[in-house]
Amino acid sequence: MPGEQPKIDKLIKLNTNENPYPASPRVVKAITAAAQQGLQLYPDPESTALREVIARHHGIAADQVFVGNGSDEVLAHAFFAFFQQGKPLLMPDISYSFYQVYCGLYGITAELISLGCDMAIQVDDYRRPHAVGGVVIANPNAPTGRLLPLREVERLLQSQPQQVVLVDEAYIDFGGETAIGLIDRYPNLLVVQTLSKSRSLAGLRVGFAAGSRHLIEALERVKNSFNSYPLDRLALAGAIAAYEDVDYFEQTRQAVMQSRNALTRELMQLGFEVLPSATNFVFAQHPGHEAASLAARLRERGILVRHFRLPRIEQYLRISIGTPAQCEALLQALRQLFVA
Ligand SMILES: *Cc1c(COP(=O)(O)O)cnc(C)c1O
Repeated sequence: MPGEQPKIDKLIKLNTNENPYPASPRVVKAITAAAQQGLQLYPDPESTALREVIARHHGIAADQVFVGNGSDEVLAHAFFAFFQQGKPLLMPDISYSFYQVYCGLYGITAELISLGCDMAIQVDDYRRPHAVGGVVIANPNAPTGRLLPLREVERLLQSQPQQVVLVDEAYIDFGGETAIGLIDRYPNLLVVQTLSKSRSLAGLRVGFAAGSRHLIEALERVKNSFNSYPLDRLALAGAIAAYEDVDYFEQTRQAVMQSRNALTRELMQLGFEVLPSATNFVFAQHPGHEAASLAARLRERGILVRHFRLPRIEQYLRISIGTPAQCEALLQALRQLFVA
């Protein structure tokens, strides 16, 4: 189940990792213009203009880019195209929950590899004595927020040269270094990103994959058997404008990272243990308070955070980074709870 989308106004939503800032005004203008131009016509089924913009941004070729209706759709196509091999797909025991949903849908066996006791991915544990059908990781990982350094990603690629290694970089713009620069050297690497988080476009539904032409062609084949027009004219126009407004992207992502670092310090002062985050959320636990009851009591005060009833992480809260005012409201509520 995805995080709750409340029907009540005025709730402070820190539970689904949306960006607290609205999309760039240039995005809104571009979408308005596109709406006035030609909605009676189908969009470009190949999304060429957008793929070219993304390719230029990352210094790769447009035919090394595949775009989809949110990165969830890109991931679904990738699982379908690459991981239905009758061999287990390796993934961290704690990671993005949708991976196991796709495994269920496509009959793929997931082999869960434990994170270390510091909740970091241990690359050496991905060398298995038996044949595997691929590897998927989120980097930075969700919901832990921890970043695997690029040289470790490269070691993972070297340990699995025959299988597709999918690196989901939904949060990479909040403090990590993308692996897209490695796709020419590792033809088995598929990097997936989204415009939902760092470009404030969760409502527009645009994600993409970068990889070797061979992998991108395989994704195109799946997509063309499923929906020829996954990106509509508004999404194409808005996504292109989002890449063009470099200044807005920089300002908002820096603001989110600053708020994250400030919130981390404040939470630690309140006694929380906070994992180092390279994302737009923090993953924190408090030795003196049950996470489930903290989440419930914050909710009573109009603040939603995410709690997972799952082994190893049931004492953690995942808190999305809001505006400075929203972060302050959260801290105020926590301080009140702790004196009560
Ligand atoms: C949010 C998220 C996605 C999905 O993003 P969409 O592009 O909105 O579908 C994928 N992977 C991870 C790890 C995420 O957190």
